[in-house]
Amino acid sequence: MLNRALDQLLNDGFWLRPHYQACEKMTVVTRFAPSPTGFLHIGSARTALFNWLFARHHGGRYLLRIEDTDRKRSTPEAVQAILDGLDWLGLSGDEAAIFQFPRRDRHANVARQMVEAGTAYYCYASQDELTAMREKAKSEGRSPRYDGRWRDRDPADAPPGVSPAIRLKAPQDGGEMVIDDLVQGRVVIAHEQLDDMILLRADGTPTYMLSVVVDDFDMGITHVIRGDDHLNNAFRQSLVFQAMGWPLPKFAHIPLIHGADGGKLSKRHGALGVDAYRDLGYLADAVNNYLLRLGWSHGDDEIISRSDAVSWFDLDAVGRAAAQFDFAKLDHLNGHYLRQLPADALLAEVRPLLAKGLPDVVLDSDRLGRVEALLPELSQRVTKITELAESAHFLIIDRPIPMTEKAQKLLTVDARALLGNLTAELATLSTWNATSLQDHVKGFALAQDVKLGSIAQPLRAALTGGQASPGIFEVMAALGHAETRARLNDICGTAH
Ligand code: GLU
Repeated sequence: MLNRALDQLLNDGFWLRPHYQACEKMTVVTRFAPSPTGFLHIGSARTALFNWLFARHHGGRYLLRIEDTDRKRSTPEAVQAILDGLDWLGLSGDEAAIFQFPRRDRHANVARQMVEAGTAYYCYASQDELTAMREKAKSEGRSPRYDGRWRDRDPADAPPGVSPAIRLKAPQDGGEMVIDDLVQGRVVIAHEQLDDMILLRADGTPTYMLSVVVDDFDMGITHVIRGDDHLNNAFRQSLVFQAMGWPLPKFAHIPLIHGADGGKLSKRHGALGVDAYRDLGYLADAVNNYLLRLGWSHGDDEIISRSDAVSWFDLDAVGRAAAQFDFAKLDHLNGHYLRQLPADALLAEVRPLLAKGLPDVVLDSDRLGRVEALLPELSQRVTKITELAESAHFLIIDRPIPMTEKAQKLLTVDARALLGNLTAELATLSTWNATSLQDHVKGFALAQDVKLGSIAQPLRAALTGGQASPGIFEVMAALGHAETRARLNDICGTAH
């Protein structure tokens, strides 16, 4: 019931329009208009970001429209993936998303209005006629284009029982059409390249080209910012705006993203859904910063906060050349943002990944405490959240911890004996932090007349199961008194 009522409201463009007009006064209104046929592609995320930033920079609004008119390819899962992806990036629309499909009656009405106004006409050409037309054009070396046979024909000639399509009357005067694109500059095409395209199919469904224009008008869109694969559409869409006497939005067609090799963006080169970036261990801030710099620049600035981006972003600094995706740069930025995060935020990011691959580990507060304590050290050595989680594994695994071969080699008989003595010493230590541990172990080395390294190395092996880790005293501090001694006892075989 509610859905029907909502559909009704959405169908009524005149409901939307005054709403937007009221707060318009040349306020910038942008939109991100994904087709929900798959995940939120990384290139689309950049389009969303540019729309969001442009609206914010100009104190305007940023709207979301789900272009779900392709009923075969649109799925609710894809809609959800897009909404989730945008949410993760902080690019959700300023208002509830508008769905295109429920507005189809409104779109169809506009096509009929155009017929009444004489800017469009009914076309009764059959499929066979259209195929013959295409074949003929092909054989004569012309591009296959509708020949306008019903354009000026008397509707009284209409064959009985045939539902007509509605076609736009494209200009036929040998002139040209110009779009002053805010990114591409002045783009011109000859009128003869524009044919009488279909607005409403014979089955009554509106075409994409019509729906987009009606929605952009009804939503009060002032700036259409999208991928340059839509540049050609802008000419055809402008014709519909003009035919309806609607103000044209400004267009900004941004170059597509290419792979590092200059070719089409492939999966290996980054053509993944936004959710995949999250799973790969990237932070939303880093992805946003990376996408911003992909095809837009502000001097030599590489690390740009959201608020700086809002102050600085405009379309004149968007490059015209295709941007190239580069994982190394994204990694670099991610490392930066990761190290900037306060410990609690970093823990929240890493927590869902911590026990990945460790089915037996129970993430109790003790284990989480160890990880939190060592996060500042661990984060210095990684660039991604996934790596961070992996680097923390040694802190949370159950005893006795597995040893690499090299770690085992370090644990010689002598080393074990030394560690055994140290373990006994540690039992007496009343303060347990990195500084007191360092002092204590140093004093122990001195007393035993050995170099610090000959204790630190086997100590690291015994406590981490490997040879590389953050500072060993920080590791001991994070593990805590009981766990440190228990791990040492596992190695020395003595119960101290
Ligand atoms: N739905 C189109 C797409 O996902 C975008 C159309 C537009 O922005 O005008 O490519």
